[in-house]
Amino acid sequence: MNGRDAAPGLVALRGSSSGAMRRMKRTWVTGLIAKYENKKREEEPMHDNDNLTIERPTFVTHLECAMEGDHYAADQVHNLSKAGKPLLVRYDLAGVKKALTKDALAQRPGDMWRYRELLPVRKCKDIVSLGEVTTPLIRLPKLGKKFGGGEIIVKDEGRLPTGSFKARGLVMAVSMGKALGIKHMAMPTNGNAGAALAAYATSCGIKTTIFCPADTPEVNVSEIELQGATVYRVNGYIDDCGKIVGEGKAKVGWFDTSTLKEPYRIEGKKTMGLELAEQLGWDVPDVIFYPTGGGTGLIGMWKAFDELEKIGFIGSKRPRMVAVQASGCAPMVRAYDAGTEHATRWEDAHTIASGIRVPQAIGDFLILRAVRESKGFAIAVDDDKISSALNEVAREEGLLLCPEGAATYAAYKDSLADGRVSKGDRVMLFNCATGLKYPLPPVTRTLDRHKPIDYTQF
Ligand SMILES: *Cc1c(COP(=O)(O)O)cnc(C)c1O
Repeated sequence: MNGRDAAPGLVALRGSSSGAMRRMKRTWVTGLIAKYENKKREEEPMHDNDNLTIERPTFVTHLECAMEGDHYAADQVHNLSKAGKPLLVRYDLAGVKKALTKDALAQRPGDMWRYRELLPVRKCKDIVSLGEVTTPLIRLPKLGKKFGGGEIIVKDEGRLPTGSFKARGLVMAVSMGKALGIKHMAMPTNGNAGAALAAYATSCGIKTTIFCPADTPEVNVSEIELQGATVYRVNGYIDDCGKIVGEGKAKVGWFDTSTLKEPYRIEGKKTMGLELAEQLGWDVPDVIFYPTGGGTGLIGMWKAFDELEKIGFIGSKRPRMVAVQASGCAPMVRAYDAGTEHATRWEDAHTIASGIRVPQAIGDFLILRAVRESKGFAIAVDDDKISSALNEVAREEGLLLCPEGAATYAAYKDSLADGRVSKGDRVMLFNCATGLKYPLPPVTRTLDRHKPIDYTQF
């Protein structure tokens, strides 16, 4: 009983006799102890790991094809639906509404597991955590002022384990993998997802095999291998790597953990939406700029807002969702402009923002749907703009973004200039990884301590 006092009812029951009686009493005693434990816990001070150790009711009812709407059983291993489309996890939201209050949430430690009632993991023992902190909202007041007073907020996801928001998705995929008895996970990655998968899978003893494009940043390839995976550089793009994973499914028996071919990464990424709404006092920003590759985060947040409204935590207001891509790889922007439901593959994709170099996304229709329903838009920025945006925010606000995060700032500036967002809009930019994971510009300035120093230069 974890060092806590024994339940008072227990002593009085010792020494009872007949089998049936004993069983009845045992059930009654167990119930009593559970009640007592819960009460004690409520009265006790909060512990840092409460969200990982206190069992909470869960509400998953089934999974649903995002295209056709047909249902699939919960608590079983799934990849895509029969139609070959992503599966979305559905909850008994009326049940969640009864079980969860804003006040109860406020009593819990600050990490993504505080939203357990809206997450798929049933049992604490399956949670594979490496410290998924609540990520801060960082205001950019100087830049806001420069552009006429709008509030610019950066949600800095670089603070998460493995230095990127891929941790949110993969901690959920791996926890569910553990719960469902998966032993070997494989994945195509541009770097950050592979690193997060490797870390979480290794921490719970699941084997991982990871394929990345040959020019994936060195730090990603190293961290993946160091965190216990076997990683291969492949002479192709992420979707070429995905084909290898798909083909190996039958031959090796590994689980295909590709973006949106696995149902739970969205649920992890969804916590960005839950978290930002709670951080804003159960409100949403006017516009969200999201650097879009496979789109898991954008789709996940859109789902989060819907669920939050259904449990009565927010109203019907939605942020306009803006999908930001690099001009060297902008399939969603092309499809948005063309007014199509799906996006065709982008050939010869190139950009310094490797996390959004995704030529083809299986969730294309979900990204485009969220963008259109929210009255947002899709926008591309080139690598020069991304680099100068990164410089500007670092030099003027002291915040180092990753190139993908910098792309959202560049897109914000362009959208202000062409009137697609207004000066008064409260905007949220997503910085999805720590800028420290990427090659940084060299500094060549030196100082010779053996020569006279000209102090007027400083
Ligand atoms: C994966 C990634 C993205 C794109 O996220 P999706 O939700 O897959 O669209 C953006 N930035 C970084 C740094 C990433 O690692």
